[in-house]
Amino acid sequence: MQDTIELRYTSLINRVKKACINCGRNPEEVTVVAVSKTKPVEMIEAVRKLGHRHFGENKVQELMPKMDHFSDDTEIIWHMVGGLQTNKIKYLVEEVDWIDSVPKLKALKEINKRASKVKREIKVLIQVNISDEDQKFGCEPEDLPELLKASDNMKYVRVMGLMGIASFVDDPEIVRPQFRLLRELLKQEQEKGYETHDLRHLSMGMTGDLEVAIEEGSTMIRVGTALFGERDYG
Ligand SMILES: *Cc1c(COP(=O)(O)O)cnc(C)c1O
Repeated sequence: MQDTIELRYTSLINRVKKACINCGRNPEEVTVVAVSKTKPVEMIEAVRKLGHRHFGENKVQELMPKMDHFSDDTEIIWHMVGGLQTNKIKYLVEEVDWIDSVPKLKALKEINKRASKVKREIKVLIQVNISDEDQKFGCEPEDLPELLKASDNMKYVRVMGLMGIASFVDDPEIVRPQFRLLRELLKQEQEKGYETHDLRHLSMGMTGDLEVAIEEGSTMIRVGTALFGERDYG
């Protein structure tokens, strides 16, 4: 398994480098979050052995035991990338480093309240609905300014940028404007000069669309399949 993972890892890193070079960007600007959902801890260990540090999961009940498994590993950085349930936030903030999928103010307030009890600052990304599909999760683009304004100066929440999931289609020219929208929203908000928000990241791009996302300015891609193989579920 180590060999398979190593091959996939090398080819993923090469894909990222190539995409960056093709559009004149520095590959070091792009962080890869390895999304290990549904995959066993042995596979995470195999990627970890290659020196990789950022890992993501989309369900609290799966993330918690995996974080516990790696509790002695002080270098590993955990991201929650999936739908947030308010009642689970109190468990999450005890150990997670990043929450990449925060859709609204209510969730930010809960994160701040719970994180203050354990005195941990949580890095978060605001998930924006960029694909214009009703069932997609996230803040509507027009509601973003108000959300950021209302959440500036929270003591235990550091808003690091925006996250978006594009439509699941093969045509890059359909997803490109969606990624571009996220980049433009970030730029608009950066110019406002918030007090505590540190708006620098664009988490966009997955196995199927990471090249377009990188061309459009992604600084964080979330990759599962290219690294861990196809999933049976989840
Ligand atoms: C599963 C998942 C990914 C990774 O998807 P792949 O297409 O397997 O690379 C990225 N982001 C989120 C939010 C996910 O749930």
